[in-house]
Amino acid sequence: MSTDCDVLIAGAGPAGAALACALAPLPLRVWLVDAAPPPAPGQPDRRALALGLGSQRILQGLGVWSALAPQAAPIARLEVTEKGWPGVTRMAAADVRAPALGWVVGDLVLQRALLARVAETAVMCRAAAVTALAPRAGALGVTLTGPDGDTAVSTRLLVAADGSDSTVCRLAGLPRRARQIQDSVLLAQLSTDRPHAGTAHERFAASGPMALLPGAGAGDYTLVWTLPHERADDLAALPTQHLTPIAQEAFGWRAGKFLGLSNPRSVRLAESWLVQATGERVLAIGNAANTLHPIAAQGFNLGLRDVAEVAGLLAAAVAGEADPGAASLLAAYQRARQADWRQLRQVTGWLPRLFENPAPPLAGARGLGLAALDLLAPVKRRLMTRAMGLGGAQNRLQRGSWP
Ligand SMILES: Cc1cc2nc3c(=O)[nH]c(=O)nc-3n(C[C@H](O)[C@H](O)[C@H](O)COP(=O)(O)OP(=O)(O)OC[C@H]3O[C@@H](n4cnc5c(N)ncnc54)[C@H](O)[C@@H]3O)c2cc1C
Repeated sequence: MSTDCDVLIAGAGPAGAALACALAPLPLRVWLVDAAPPPAPGQPDRRALALGLGSQRILQGLGVWSALAPQAAPIARLEVTEKGWPGVTRMAAADVRAPALGWVVGDLVLQRALLARVAETAVMCRAAAVTALAPRAGALGVTLTGPDGDTAVSTRLLVAADGSDSTVCRLAGLPRRARQIQDSVLLAQLSTDRPHAGTAHERFAASGPMALLPGAGAGDYTLVWTLPHERADDLAALPTQHLTPIAQEAFGWRAGKFLGLSNPRSVRLAESWLVQATGERVLAIGNAANTLHPIAAQGFNLGLRDVAEVAGLLAAAVAGEADPGAASLLAAYQRARQADWRQLRQVTGWLPRLFENPAPPLAGARGLGLAALDLLAPVKRRLMTRAMGLGGAQNRLQRGSWP
């Protein structure tokens, strides 16, 4: 049957916009729709994203890295420590002969760069929400609700890139599981008196894990502090001159003296994932498929690997003149992605809990573990490679060459 488009991407957040960039060079009619307007110029970022070297290569392949690079702060090394205990694991880009372990960019800086790239292509962008689905022979009927009311369109493949509370997944009947967590994160900009020289910190403190992501200025970081909901809300409401010494006390002096915190805000965390990320002519990517605890800074990195997989499968389908919504393609996507999803869900599930018990025998053992890991170069290199998004087979887009 005739259809309006081959691939309809619901959600123009970073995952959906990245997929639109990836599909643009392929001979496919691609639509990108979003229920909300794009971020306005100058709108402040909601969070800083740490992107691994693997993600940087994908963004390079999509033609957006050159626009992002001037606004991205490199992570040259990472130190993992537990406050009050001597053990430390250090990971450095030089250990894996890489230019950086990753880069830190603002989420809206990233989304704007991706959407600017999409605007240079033939991808059709519309301000509309997906509000209903109706399977048809050889296609999927989709209702788009926008400022001018409802429009019925048909597509051969619908991609759910509509975030954690995905309407598309709900409409498609994809079963979702959730883990109840009591964590929020306190986010703030932090300036210190010591140049970070590209060092990121993951510090397990008694109050909760604290990450410092290096920023553009020599002593500037983004603080990501995992705390119980109420504690995060209370701290975010404090005047910053009171909050700064509390954060210093919790983190210690490993990154120097905290000169000041600004723009503290508390964000409630949720964790959920799809048991099956594909349905009839539907597949899910990014947060719609997996919403993770940000402790390992991996959510969008994982979503970009979804993008790379979908792009690779669709490029092969186009080359073989196959249906982009074929059941075999959807099955191949689920098969290819499920191990990566499962492993990261496990890591982000146990990591926040691992350092919860401050009692000496356990805390001492963890300190020894961090010190031992620092000495075990091959194990450390394997962990680093995975965290940078370079583990497993890499397709063309993951190698930075596309299409
Ligand atoms: C505090 C915090 C820190 C983080 N740090 C990191 C990090 O350091 N590194 C990292 O890799 N990840 C990190 N993440 C995760 C990262 O932010 C997410 O993985 C990423 O933003 C998800 O992008 P997305 O495009 O999948 O979803 P979203 O950004 O949620 O986009 C979904 C889009 O879909 C649209 N939409 C919704 N419903 C519909 C509909 N019915 N029809 C059409 N459109 C619709 C929405 O308007 C939105 O634009 C962090 C997350 C948090 C909370």
